[in-house]
Amino acid sequence: MSRKYTGHFHAYIPGPTNIPPRILNAAHVPTEDMRSPTFPELTLPLFEDLKKIFKTKDGQVFIFPSSGTGAWESAITNTMSPGDKVLIYRFGQFSLLWVDMFERLGLDVDVRDVDWGTGTPPEDVEATLKADSNHEYKVVCVTQNETATGVSSDVAAVRKAIDAAGHPTMLFVDGVSSIASIDFRMDEWGVDCAISGSQKGFMLPAGVGLVCASQKALEAHKSASLPRCYFSWEDMMKTNKDGYFPYTPPTTMLHALRASIDMLMEEGLDNVFARHHRIAEGVRRAVKDGWGLKLCAKEEKWESDTVSAIVVPEDKDAKEVIATAYNKYHLSLGAGLTQVAGKVFRIGHLGDFNELMLASAIVGAEMAMLDNGFDIKPGSGIAAASEYWRNN
Ligand SMILES: *Cc1c(COP(=O)(O)O)cnc(C)c1O
Repeated sequence: MSRKYTGHFHAYIPGPTNIPPRILNAAHVPTEDMRSPTFPELTLPLFEDLKKIFKTKDGQVFIFPSSGTGAWESAITNTMSPGDKVLIYRFGQFSLLWVDMFERLGLDVDVRDVDWGTGTPPEDVEATLKADSNHEYKVVCVTQNETATGVSSDVAAVRKAIDAAGHPTMLFVDGVSSIASIDFRMDEWGVDCAISGSQKGFMLPAGVGLVCASQKALEAHKSASLPRCYFSWEDMMKTNKDGYFPYTPPTTMLHALRASIDMLMEEGLDNVFARHHRIAEGVRRAVKDGWGLKLCAKEEKWESDTVSAIVVPEDKDAKEVIATAYNKYHLSLGAGLTQVAGKVFRIGHLGDFNELMLASAIVGAEMAMLDNGFDIKPGSGIAAASEYWRNN
């Protein structure tokens, strides 16, 4: 394909996210021997430092050459047996796909459909688990950040709900679009399997799936009987302890991951979270105060700091806004998926970002909306966002 634009392309989809030059350069290494005596000098510290990102002392991190979906499959097949019961809430494309995977892997899935634009309801978790006196539920799932609708769920509140019910279930969290961007606390929140991927908050290309397993999950692993091979934890544990892998690891990605962790640690996780919040809030001001539009997130408590899904007026098609933005302004916006297809477009604001980068997304989205006949005031989005950013 010939080059259709000058300058840089503006990618504001909620993953894959912008890859900073430092990470690109770190991946630029010649072939390496993954069985050499020096290879563990790269890998062993990665496992240790990832624990700091997940905020765990006793947890164990697994690094798979896969996208986030592989990390899901790994968590499920290594801790569960056929027919085990799962409680999961469906409120967007990613929780929907997670449900689908549980079903296809032969689990007994209790799916609760809640409004797209809301998230996991802790009250319902508590009531459901209290009624489960035989302790049939083995896993409760929370999609911490539903990337399709821009909704964040309160994982700590779900933990409290499980504790209030006195239930021994495991807690799984899909943190693919939240971990390393939004606060996450594996140990404090008693999470048993946390899942992430490389191409969102970690600012890497796609290709590394991360699972962090608690001691309880590792215990469950001992008797879990779902079949697994490529994603097997036991194979990983046997070799990982010495810094090696059961098959060829993505060595260049591991160097990139090293740079990513270094960048996150140098900025400080709390500062990373604060930056995501500040930038997200500017985008929300543009949407609400500037354009007078609504977010898909139905209440402030559900609003995500990593992605905003913007609802277009009923007589408009979000797909046209996305097409204009791409073709005319070289700006990629996220599309609406399944239930919200054509009804929303999304601005991703996670990873390596700053205010002026998001300013380009706001101006580009606004031009694309104006081109499609939206009744909004030119310049209103950036006026509202910059007002917030200047003062915060
Ligand atoms: C992106 C994403 C996934 C899927 O990850 P892949 O890397 O595309 O397999 C899963 N869950 C959430 C919440 C996501 O944002």
